[in-house]
Amino acid sequence: MITCLEFRRRIGAEPFAADAELEAHRRACAPCARHQDELRAMDDVIRRALEVNPPPREAAAPVRAGAMRSRFLAIAASLVAGIALALVVLVAAPRAAIAREVVAHVLHEPDAAAPGAPLPAAAIDVVLAPAGMRLAAGAGTVSFAAHCVFEGRVVPHLVVQAPGGPVTVLVLAHRTIARPMRFDEQGYSGVVLPAPRGSIAVVGQGVRDLEAVARQVFDAIDWDA
Ligand SMILES: [Zn+2]
Ligand SMILES: [Zn+2]
Repeated sequence: MITCLEFRRRIGAEPFAADAELEAHRRACAPCARHQDELRAMDDVIRRALEVNPPPREAAAPVRAGAMRSRFLAIAASLVAGIALALVVLVAAPRAAIAREVVAHVLHEPDAAAPGAPLPAAAIDVVLAPAGMRLAAGAGTVSFAAHCVFEGRVVPHLVVQAPGGPVTVLVLAHRTIARPMRFDEQGYSGVVLPAPRGSIAVVGQGVRDLEAVARQVFDAIDWDA
């Protein structure tokens, strides 16, 4: 039977993949079956969202200057309130939450970080291309690349075999942070860096120079591929 790692690699690249090997693993391994169901459900959601994406609307009818101005003020006021609220929330809960969620994800798939053969570039492209990204060779040896479900989104999950130990990289396009952040959580250390879209989290256990590794991975990403 194929390993959990192999199963997750394959369905991470193609959630609807199905053959005798995958089906046999699904039947024998409940956590992997659940993982694939989650990915399939997310994939469906994304496809449906793309299908129902409405065509651009006709230009709005002209609005009187006064009405426009009061509407502008109302929008501005709600934006200010929104930003003030966002700032308060940002400095409090999410800093801890992102660390917790990232480490929980890594703990959920411990074998993904096991040493492995370098993946061919095509296997990495399959995972990053839907996010409009590419990884240059400078990132180091990538041994795992899959789509995963994280906070209800499909995110690229990579493992880079750095000289100081394996690091897990999660690309979190939906998670915007203002400043780089460092965390220690349940024996893992992590760095979250603001990215052109959202952020990326780089996590490892006792990895030397984690920040330098995170920076190296970050610099190897082409965000507008
Ligand atoms: Zn399994
Ligand atoms: Zn994952």
